[in-house]
Amino acid sequence: MQNNISYWEQESFLSGYDVMVIGSGIVGLTAALNLKNTAPALKVGILEAGFLPSGASTKNAGFACFGSVSELMDELETTTEDEVLQVVEMRWKGLLKLKETLGESAIDYKQLGGYEIFRAEDQAFAEECVEKIDYLNAALKHIIGVSDIYAVANERIAGFGFNNVKSLILNRCEAQIDTGKMMSALLQKVADAGIRVFNNCKVLELRKSSYGHNLKTSQGDLQAKRVLIATNAFARDLFPELNVVPGRGQVLVTEPIPGLKIQGTFHYDRGYYYFRNINNRILLGGGRNINFKAEETTLPGTTEPVQSALEYLLHQVIVPGQKPGIAYRWSGIMGFGDKLKPIIEQIEPGVFCAVRCNGMGVAMGSLTGQRAADLILETM
Ligand SMILES: Cc1cc2nc3c(=O)[nH]c(=O)nc-3n(C[C@H](O)[C@H](O)[C@H](O)COP(=O)(O)OP(=O)(O)OC[C@H]3O[C@@H](n4cnc5c(N)ncnc54)[C@H](O)[C@@H]3O)c2cc1C
Repeated sequence: MQNNISYWEQESFLSGYDVMVIGSGIVGLTAALNLKNTAPALKVGILEAGFLPSGASTKNAGFACFGSVSELMDELETTTEDEVLQVVEMRWKGLLKLKETLGESAIDYKQLGGYEIFRAEDQAFAEECVEKIDYLNAALKHIIGVSDIYAVANERIAGFGFNNVKSLILNRCEAQIDTGKMMSALLQKVADAGIRVFNNCKVLELRKSSYGHNLKTSQGDLQAKRVLIATNAFARDLFPELNVVPGRGQVLVTEPIPGLKIQGTFHYDRGYYYFRNINNRILLGGGRNINFKAEETTLPGTTEPVQSALEYLLHQVIVPGQKPGIAYRWSGIMGFGDKLKPIIEQIEPGVFCAVRCNGMGVAMGSLTGQRAADLILETM
């Protein structure tokens, strides 16, 4: 390390790493925690480019979900049934692992149910989805452990106060979490385990060295025997050959809405739009499909077409007749690819990666991190 580093800092903070994790999102944090829990003698550190985690893990919607009917139908069009079921299992097991690691109360886990909404103009599609319910309930039963996961719930439409929503499919097993509390609790666990997170420390380059690997960072050079790349959408900055494509997701949160009726997590248009209640406000996100190319970026930012589409949905469908103020707008960056499964592998001797949760890392992230840790431990 350079940058006016003292002998003390070098010896106590910056040397002797067995494993250095790059990226402090849910995957990197969980991997580090699992490494340390399984092998307490290991010295594990985490390097994070942002002053907070700056990808998707503190920017997401907090849906503890494993797929709405239309999302799963879409996935079944491009992927074999076997693989879709394996991915659903990863999402579900990931959620169980997240709850086991942090506890339900620490993350405000609330199983309020998830709903897929269909407007009047989507009725033909709604019927197609309803027809698939029995098939999906049977296929997912052994994974989730419940036989009637999805059900038509049109009788609940009026209670939510929607406009022009004609069909509703309930997912009884879907829940919501408080994303901020989840990441805060995970960072606390990591600190308690003796793992240091270095913020504002972007890894610029990775090279083999006599110690193992030299990591050139924005703060200087560091050494580690093993390296885990958990940078998700940014993975190609370090390994251009990795099959990960960034996808920016835009979100807004309203001011508090008196008498807000919606409770739960809601999906619309094959999952391209999603909204939920959070402390009497609505969090609403999506619209990437308006211009996929423009949103295929690692740059943060919101755009007028996407924000307008979100506001249209908010005002016309979700809380008709009310025009709540918008208190927050932000974006986060997801990692997608041509396969639904994350990439968890050794990409060169001593360098591993755990990336590409395909927009479902709240669900899949904990298991992805754990599997990466197991893989690294096999080589130590
Ligand atoms: C708007 C939005 C809504 C979402 N909603 C949901 C949801 O409801 N449910 C769900 O399951 N999933 C959701 N997701 C997806 C989920 O948030 C992600 O899949 C998950 O957070 C990915 O975690 P990660 O650890 O792989 O990546 P990230 O959280 O992106 O972490 C990667 C980290 O690496 C850091 N980094 C990058 N490059 C470097 C470098 N060179 N050096 C050092 N550090 C670096 C970044 O700053 C970042 O903090 C959503 C995502 C977004 C953006």
